[in-house]
Amino acid sequence: MDTIMTIKAFGKNAAPAIEEAELYVENLENTISAVKEGSRLFIINNSINENFSITEPDLIDILLYSLEAAEKTDGAFNPLIYSVTKEWGFTNSLYKVPSDEKINELMAQCDFTKVKVQLNSEKSDEGQKSILKLYKPVNASFDFGALGKGFAADRILEILKKYGIESALLDLGGNIQLLGKKPDSSLWKVGIKNPLPDSNQKIPIALTLSDCAVVTSGGYERYFTSEDGRTFIHILDGRTGYPVNNGILSASAVSSSGLYADFLSTSLFVLGKAEALEYWRNHKDFDFILIMDDFSLSYTSGLKDKIQLLDDFSSVEILE
Ligand code: AMP
Ligand code: MG
Repeated sequence: MDTIMTIKAFGKNAAPAIEEAELYVENLENTISAVKEGSRLFIINNSINENFSITEPDLIDILLYSLEAAEKTDGAFNPLIYSVTKEWGFTNSLYKVPSDEKINELMAQCDFTKVKVQLNSEKSDEGQKSILKLYKPVNASFDFGALGKGFAADRILEILKKYGIESALLDLGGNIQLLGKKPDSSLWKVGIKNPLPDSNQKIPIALTLSDCAVVTSGGYERYFTSEDGRTFIHILDGRTGYPVNNGILSASAVSSSGLYADFLSTSLFVLGKAEALEYWRNHKDFDFILIMDDFSLSYTSGLKDKIQLLDDFSSVEILE
């Protein structure tokens, strides 16, 4: 994974548990990475075939989840956005502003409604085995960049639990996942990064939590400035193919699942404040925090007793 991973696990089997988790993540890369040459996904994305039989459980799970995510957000979250992300240069840091024609042409390849899936179950020596029949148009490429860290974090926690670990903190490139409480039974403290460019890195928000995932999406993670001074960020609107420009500097999601929080942070970022709030009101199984470009803050009411503000925001709104 193109990211730094820290696992802090407490308990007597922590060392072998962490070893297995690290091995798992290494192997996961070989299955679900869109950028790693030779990975299973890389081969599928670059194949001249349109029909595939997928047997890798992780790839099946994340692929089906990504298509559901696209449906739930009407394409704001779009797992087929890869060819457009690539055209903007976000996959290799050779940034450029594509023409409108080029974006429209590539967006035709990102139509997730053209993808067809059928999940079958077959008997094998190891018991029942899932097989996913996938049809995708030849130019359509999947990218699980917006889900992969959350997916991995959930799986790592399963591994740690298998070893009897009851207290752990994972940091997968900014995706924070907490298992239980701290070894001394107090709650964990998680900071939300300052999303302002060139900020002095003062942590503006601290959350006091246990047993949950905290995932933040922000333009500050990857962006470029064009010759005419415009800034373009790596999170694109999956419906248009253009970098999001809706006033949100960072969107954080807090939920019991890392995968769900990862999906949410990206999706809420793309949806913008009004639609994000509507999504939350329709689901209510997570909380979120938005920091806007006027340094105003809004967060959902479930965080009221868990949030501590460490910086001066221009305004603070609690969303109900
Ligand atoms: P995250 O940091 O989890 O918000 O994921 C951002 C990454 O997801 C980007 O770097 C792209 O690889 C990919 N991506 C960008 N825009 C979208 C989108 N609208 N839907 C799904 N994935 C996206
Ligand atoms: Mg995400």
